[in-house]
Amino acid sequence: MTFFTAMGYYGYGYGYPGFGFYWDPTLIFVIVGAVISMWASGRVQSTFAKYSRMGSMSRMTGAETARRILDSQGLYHVQVRSVSGNLTDHYDPRTKTVNLSQSVYGSTSVASIGVAAHECGHAVQDAQAYAPLNIRSALVPVANIGCKLSWPIILIGLLLGMTPFLHLGIILFSLSVLFQLITLPVEYNASSRAVSLLGQLGILQGNEVGAARKVLNAAALTYVAAAAATILQLLRLIILFGGRNRDDR
Ligand SMILES: [Zn+2]
Repeated sequence: MTFFTAMGYYGYGYGYPGFGFYWDPTLIFVIVGAVISMWASGRVQSTFAKYSRMGSMSRMTGAETARRILDSQGLYHVQVRSVSGNLTDHYDPRTKTVNLSQSVYGSTSVASIGVAAHECGHAVQDAQAYAPLNIRSALVPVANIGCKLSWPIILIGLLLGMTPFLHLGIILFSLSVLFQLITLPVEYNASSRAVSLLGQLGILQGNEVGAARKVLNAAALTYVAAAAATILQLLRLIILFGGRNRDDR
């Protein structure tokens, strides 16, 4: 293993195709992952844009929807706030706040109502101590450390020719995969809670419910794509370094 190949690996180590020093066939995994992610993100944006133009019969805004759902679940202490940015909506379990982007907060579209209801779905999960949400929250710091350290440790392993470092790097990277996988039930569950509450409370009616479901399904697909891309990267690491032993130098 030469210094240049090691630097080559490191150069495109963060997941995007950089055509470094030579073509590595396993880069196809990274490219496929990037294409899936771009496709999913384009799809959520176009679906959101489409149903942003569909007004709801109830004429409730995202903020009013959130308040109504939270109150219906006895979550009077959870605040609804407006945050800047596009598709930046999230629930913060530390501050017990539903944060809605400006385009969702004040809009009466079916898309905005769907997104607002989804974030309330997370608030309900939090209140009910929904296990996957708790596991996910506990994994955040671990996954962050794993993500930051995995490539530097793999690089050290390559430079020193030490297999245990390569394997440690792969284990650290797999923590990110674990995090992405536990995110999936959390997201799908929040959306299914959202859709049924929107129907039950009469905030959306008839085909509006199906439209909100389409928006939320498109959003959930971005998490599936992210998980798939990370799994592909993990496979690549295993193929490149997983079977390596001391004799390979
Ligand atoms: Zn969510």
